[in-house]
Amino acid sequence: MGSLQAEKIRQSFVTRVNEDRLMDCMRCGFCLPACPTYIHSGHDETQSPRGRIALMKAVRDGVVEWDGSIEEAFDLCLGCRACEPACPAGVQYGTLIEETRDAIVSAKDQSLKEKLIRKGAFDHLFADQRKMQAAVKLVTFYQKTGLQKVVRKIGFLELFPSFMKDMERALPEPPKRKRDSVLRSPAKTKVAFFTGCLMDTMFKETNRNTIELLERLGCEVVLPKGQQCCGALQGHSGEMERAKRNALVNIEAFDDVAFDFIVNNAGGCGAFLSEYDRLFEGESPELYAKAKRFVDKQIDISSLLVKLGIVAELEKLPSTEAVEIVTYQDSCHLRNVNGVTDEPRTILKAVQSSVFTEMPGANLCCGSAGIYNLLQPEMASKILESKMKEVKEIQASTIITTNPGCLLQMKVGVEREGLSSTARAMHLVDFIHEKIIQ
Ligand code: SF4
Ligand code: SF4
Repeated sequence: MGSLQAEKIRQSFVTRVNEDRLMDCMRCGFCLPACPTYIHSGHDETQSPRGRIALMKAVRDGVVEWDGSIEEAFDLCLGCRACEPACPAGVQYGTLIEETRDAIVSAKDQSLKEKLIRKGAFDHLFADQRKMQAAVKLVTFYQKTGLQKVVRKIGFLELFPSFMKDMERALPEPPKRKRDSVLRSPAKTKVAFFTGCLMDTMFKETNRNTIELLERLGCEVVLPKGQQCCGALQGHSGEMERAKRNALVNIEAFDDVAFDFIVNNAGGCGAFLSEYDRLFEGESPELYAKAKRFVDKQIDISSLLVKLGIVAELEKLPSTEAVEIVTYQDSCHLRNVNGVTDEPRTILKAVQSSVFTEMPGANLCCGSAGIYNLLQPEMASKILESKMKEVKEIQASTIITTNPGCLLQMKVGVEREGLSSTARAMHLVDFIHEKIIQ
């Protein structure tokens, strides 16, 4: 890399990567055992949180010159933030890696292809729910018209990388039915539902089930108009300005005092939504206050279901001789950013017709991490392989997740290991809906 470009990147680090935050790291190494890339790289320091923070500082200070190996160390970070709860010094690693990616994207000369991909994804597909819906209609057409069978039969998929083939097999079924209101009595709680871009297109059935469960538990569910993608994908890809644009739209769309809660059913989105105030620190006090109001009402679906009494509802159901072993794979951001670990497990343990078994590495990332599995298939595959080994060890027949990316990744794992006749991956909401309403 030319030294002009390297200097441009260093300057960009100086402007965008906060030095005080870097200095919080005291290099103790408590975060190392929590980091999946450190574990799966055979303890390579440059693949650890401590090593990456040292690299950020070295680039910022001009101690090392920017090159491909430094960029790779940042690219390989899953952004799972498992290093944060493990850190005694409270280092804000999630913010640091976002600032780093923002600094790189702002300074690096992008190829025309990369520019077009970023523009297409962030200014069109993920900025407009109608375009997402059109894309999903294409997938539904592919699944419903028999085209999928033909494509599989003629071996067309062999032309694609193996991860894409697995992903094709793991595509969720298109929704089968229209939703009926199951609100039994006048609502006691008014809930605004953040529907999410992937959840409201690819996993529309899960969104319908979410509304039905909340209505069954006495909520009025409102879907504020104008809401859009939370911006997490943009924020984690070094596109902070685009992420802020989405955040502003959502803050306005949900700015209604009548809502008791703003609920989401996607761990990754929920974590980003719950940090919207951080995006507007130092901006106008009115805007910051609005962002704070939005953040204060955030809740994930498992926490809200527990608050609304789902456990008692589940315990009322008749028990059977349980044959189904259910396990739970944490959504990294739900766990590491929002600190929600007990609620999904409490719900699953209350189901009388199945046995909950904890998976040993459930707290570690599954390798999905947004689009990490597409960009870094080698590391993502290593991580998924060890995850599926754990699934087999505990003989789980149902793997529950609370995030669309994790759900797709676990579905890919089930397909890849040839477990589809004995195991399934499901969203927590669909599993509970199956027990209570269906
Ligand atoms: S975010 Fe995850 S992968 Fe990245 S350094 Fe922290 S623990 Fe490791
Ligand atoms: S645990 Fe925190 S302070 Fe210690 S090395 Fe890791 S990031 Fe730095």
